[in-house]
Amino acid sequence: MALFSRKRSTAPSPLDGVDTVLADLDGVVYAGPGALPFAVESLNRAGESARLGYITNNAARTDASVAEHLSSLGLDVAASDVVTSPQAAMRLLAGILPAPATILVVGGDGLVDEVTKAGYTVTRSAEDSPAAVVQGFAPEVAWTDLAEAAFALKLPEDEAGIPWIATNTDWTIPRDRGVAPGNGTLVSAVHTAIGRLATVAGKPEAPIFEEALARFGARKALFIGDRLDTDIMGANRVGIDSVLVLTGIDRPKHVLAAPEGSRPTYILGDLRELHEPYPEAVEKDGVFHVNGAAVRVAGADVEIVAESGVQIDLLRAGAAAIWASGTPVFVLRVPERLYDDPFHRP
Ligand SMILES: [Mg+2]
Repeated sequence: MALFSRKRSTAPSPLDGVDTVLADLDGVVYAGPGALPFAVESLNRAGESARLGYITNNAARTDASVAEHLSSLGLDVAASDVVTSPQAAMRLLAGILPAPATILVVGGDGLVDEVTKAGYTVTRSAEDSPAAVVQGFAPEVAWTDLAEAAFALKLPEDEAGIPWIATNTDWTIPRDRGVAPGNGTLVSAVHTAIGRLATVAGKPEAPIFEEALARFGARKALFIGDRLDTDIMGANRVGIDSVLVLTGIDRPKHVLAAPEGSRPTYILGDLRELHEPYPEAVEKDGVFHVNGAAVRVAGADVEIVAESGVQIDLLRAGAAAIWASGTPVFVLRVPERLYDDPFHRP
């Protein structure tokens, strides 16, 4: 069979034909202050053939401070290469309410900076009759800020209530000492108080991707992320190919369980594999082959038919078989071997 004799060296790499590479930061480029193994050299090499851009939901840092951090790790990054969720929020806001206008800001420097650059006036008080509320995470956001947002948003939108834009709705934010409430949790507090829903700019919603695609003039983009529910879902929503790299949050078992809409185009152990031929999963008589690995779903059983000793190929074959089965993963018996996790975890 010609399909099975395809050599690793003849398959295209994930970068084939790609003119713009967009990367998430945490879990893709770095974990905490330090770079992840192979990330910097692999991205620099990708930058030889494609435009490189960075996308972050973090609303607390400015594009310039993100660029400075990435440059300190050995990447060549200007502020204009970084797309932040406050910038996406401003793209969204401009479509609803052109500047100038007075905006109630709940958030820190990263957000205030973008609101000001977009030509709006910043207020912290509902008494200034703001024309919209924009909310993003900053460690200094207090109950008094959430209360001002609630006062400003007291009218429902269909009763002439003002727009409410959240930079992102990540429930949690990783800190040195553990996991803490993220912007989604704070937005949810306001939502619970007033019964309104915010419009969201960051991943997995489209505005942050649209801002990046427009800014970089992308024709064929590839998005690299470490989370299925934000990064990969978002890329799928805007119709661009995606890489899930196993150096961050989501692990092999999450990949196998990924719902339709959150399944990546490519599954990589680390970013070196951006430059390697990517083996297509080939189905034959219900068995999914990736190089020497083969997996099938038979009734409620997921069976490893063959192993090549390369764990990433076994995971790719398992994902292809499970995803194609249309059966929810929780009713399947999945051998643990299929989601072994020898990959780098931050
Ligand atoms: Mg991430």
